[in-house]
Amino acid sequence: MSKFKQEAHAVLASRRFRERDRVEKLQDVLLQDEIYRSLNSQKIDLRADMARLASLNQDISAQKNQYSQIVAEMEKRMNELGINKEDLAVSYVCPLCKDTGFVDGKECACLKQLVYARLRAHCGSLVTDESDFDNVDFSVYPENQKERFQKFYRFLKITSDKFPNNENKIIGIYGPVGVGKTHGISVFANNLMKRGYSVFYLNSAEMNSLFLKYHLAREADKADIWEPLIDCDLLILDDLGAEQNINNVTQNYLYCLLNERHHKTTVFTSNLDEELLREKYDDRVFSRLGHKLRSTIIKLKGKDLRFN
Ligand SMILES: [Zn+2]
Repeated sequence: MSKFKQEAHAVLASRRFRERDRVEKLQDVLLQDEIYRSLNSQKIDLRADMARLASLNQDISAQKNQYSQIVAEMEKRMNELGINKEDLAVSYVCPLCKDTGFVDGKECACLKQLVYARLRAHCGSLVTDESDFDNVDFSVYPENQKERFQKFYRFLKITSDKFPNNENKIIGIYGPVGVGKTHGISVFANNLMKRGYSVFYLNSAEMNSLFLKYHLAREADKADIWEPLIDCDLLILDDLGAEQNINNVTQNYLYCLLNERHHKTTVFTSNLDEELLREKYDDRVFSRLGHKLRSTIIKLKGKDLRFN
């Protein structure tokens, strides 16, 4: 288990512990109250009576009435002591998995989020917290470019709506520095994360150093480094082509990565244009990045926004 996953499990365990502790302390407070304690033991006795009578097929309607009366009195007493009934219920940060991290034996989205939050904190961060495409402010763009950015964000929104069933598993965004590529994919990433999908964001230098770390890692540690790259629902490789090419590392592992993620979505951006990127990578890598059937290439350059 990776260090990040261990940390995530520790967070969930402390959530569970804190909540159980809070409820137990509240119950202690109530049971220290004489009136409440007495009502509570009446309730327990009555429940036992009801079970016994029911097993003998006897009428328990009188006991039922009495039982509801006691429950009502307990609630009244609780109120007098300044405690709400709801306060006694265990509440979970994640109701889906009740903060255990698992739903039907599968890892819950909240656990994945905790893991990726750690990975992301470790590996660079998105440029905005905005997750709603409708909140994107197009007034920051010059008048003659507004439309193409609206089109760009519309494409991201449609892809997000279809996710993870979007056909384009590779989305390549080309354009010069400062054009707003990273902002766009940050909104895209936040939108998906809000819906419980896991996102792993790396700029190309971070990608490269992960590859190198993997290359040099002991066999037993390799999976911990590689798995998050494959497991995440969306992988973002920002500023591809800016990394230094490390022999037997960069291209090899990028190729393996794209291959292994063929059924999952990978977004890359590049400040280089397509021709320069083609020169940078060998054919097998480049053909993955620009796969005719499986990729959408967006060029945020010049006057037009082009989708290939
Ligand atoms: Zn959960």
